[in-house]
Amino acid sequence: MKVKKRVIIYSLLAIIIIVSLLSFTAGNTPPEREITYRKFVEDVKAGKIDRVYLEDRDKLRGIYKNGDVFITDNPRKPSLKEELLLQGVKVEEKNGSFTAENILSFVLLIGLFVGIIYFLDRKSSRQTQNSMAKLSSVNVDDNSTVEVDFSSVAGNEEAKESVKELVDFIKNPKKYTKYGARLPRGIIFHGPPGTGKTLMAKALAGEAQVPFYAVSGSDFVQVYVGLGAGRIRDLFKKARQSGKCVIFIDEIDALGKKRSGGIDGGNDERDQTLNALLSEMSGFDENEGIVVIAATNRLDVLDDALLRPGRFDRHIEIGLPDVNGRLQILKLHSKNKPLDATVDLKELAEQTVFFSGAMLENLLNEAAILAAKRGSGTIKKSDIDKAFYTVVAGSEKKDRSSLIEKDKYITAYHEAGHALATRLLAPENRVTKVTIIPSTKGAGGFSMNIPPDRMYHSKRDMEKQIKICLAGRAAEELVFGRDGITTGASNDLEKATQIIVSLVKRFGMNNKAGMLNYDILYGSSEGIGDDIIIECRKQMEELYNSTKKVLKENLSLLHAIAQSLLEKETLDEQQLNEIIFAKAV
Ligand code: ADP
Repeated sequence: MKVKKRVIIYSLLAIIIIVSLLSFTAGNTPPEREITYRKFVEDVKAGKIDRVYLEDRDKLRGIYKNGDVFITDNPRKPSLKEELLLQGVKVEEKNGSFTAENILSFVLLIGLFVGIIYFLDRKSSRQTQNSMAKLSSVNVDDNSTVEVDFSSVAGNEEAKESVKELVDFIKNPKKYTKYGARLPRGIIFHGPPGTGKTLMAKALAGEAQVPFYAVSGSDFVQVYVGLGAGRIRDLFKKARQSGKCVIFIDEIDALGKKRSGGIDGGNDERDQTLNALLSEMSGFDENEGIVVIAATNRLDVLDDALLRPGRFDRHIEIGLPDVNGRLQILKLHSKNKPLDATVDLKELAEQTVFFSGAMLENLLNEAAILAAKRGSGTIKKSDIDKAFYTVVAGSEKKDRSSLIEKDKYITAYHEAGHALATRLLAPENRVTKVTIIPSTKGAGGFSMNIPPDRMYHSKRDMEKQIKICLAGRAAEELVFGRDGITTGASNDLEKATQIIVSLVKRFGMNNKAGMLNYDILYGSSEGIGDDIIIECRKQMEELYNSTKKVLKENLSLLHAIAQSLLEKETLDEQQLNEIIFAKAV
């Protein structure tokens, strides 16, 4: 846009110059008439000529008293001037087209253009200066009046406790420095995305009632070397001016990743930026009340230089919420939402294992949107169920008619197989939800089981896991026959293969393969030897057959669950347990 404007201005200028020069020459030199020297002498004698210019060696130019301009040969006679003067003709020894006024106006015109060009040039250089200044200054999210406090953060009690300590450090730094305590300058919040790291940093600023400056690590990694470092200095300058504050750098890994040290020599710009950050951090006094918080999803990728004492030496983990945390977050975010009495948040918290705080918030928000669209006054359980799939696996397919009945039937048995196998083979695992509603991401159904947390996994556990994976295919075979099996099991087979390969190759749990780590023997890139493949296949077949046997023995249960799934599409833990219990008695 700016470039276009300049092109237009310069073209206009060029046109003005050309036009004015043309009119200048055209206006000041009327057309010349060539006359013979004899005619010239006659006209001089006749007193018709006003003036003659003697500038050219070959030609004489002059003006008649009537204003006409003439040109004739110059006789180069030394006495010509005197003769002309004696005849009353004015004689000038320079070119007629450059009279004093002409020169003056020409000079003025040139002066005007020079002035305009100078003005434009200054303006554009000022613009460049401004844009350079803008580039090297960072766009901080300066939230001086933070209204978030610790009551806005639910769950994550341990992290909250650690952060609470910092409030006092910021408020009364002198209290600690008097005892010689070194206050933390840099803190790293690490954990998966959406777990509330930004929220926690904001709450810290809110509680301490200091300004909050939020930037992202990627803002500092620029194409031009040195620009990122400039931005860091600019950020700290701004922060210092405000006195006590919390600086939050999201995605610190963008600039603080471990230096590769490879042949490429690393990234100059990133190194400079990182060094600028470190020197700024060691530059401020410990009792200034400035705290820098950096957030990352992965602590292990950060450069050691960042983590040394006096830099980012405090690390606080902000992990995914547990069931209690999820319940607290759900409660917090449903405060301003009209939930129907049928909605049980506790149950929802149990069904949302591995959900982050952001996902939970999103879940309630999507449900609220669905309820608002329906206009029924409250958010129903069905709204939350629908929102669940939007959040987990893209949005629920709207056009249910497109679901061929047969597909629905297959999915029901497939998912019932997984659910039943889990309940029968691994009752310690919980099945919180089984469904046959497909999502746009293509997952046929959805069943979730929660294995209890363990440090070690036994061979039995791993085999159970494989069996649960294979149970979908086994159920299909039992109900639809050997040739009726479908592609629906592809993800399951992938997972089962992963487990069995590591069981045989890495954990020494197969008698034939023995207690050798085949990755070390062959290198993981070497692939798998034929003997290992044969062992894996054999073991997988045994596990599959045993899964099929268990399901066959409980075929009536499989039918009951599948039938119920066809009716209700989604079963929660309680409904599933009811079916199993009803059949058992
Ligand atoms: P992160 O910085 O870890 O990616 P955010 O702080 O940006 O996550 O979280 C995004 C949103 O998710 C928050 O604004 C908040 O609405 C919600 N949220 C996440 N964790 C929590 C929590 N523990 N308590 C309440 N809300 C949360």
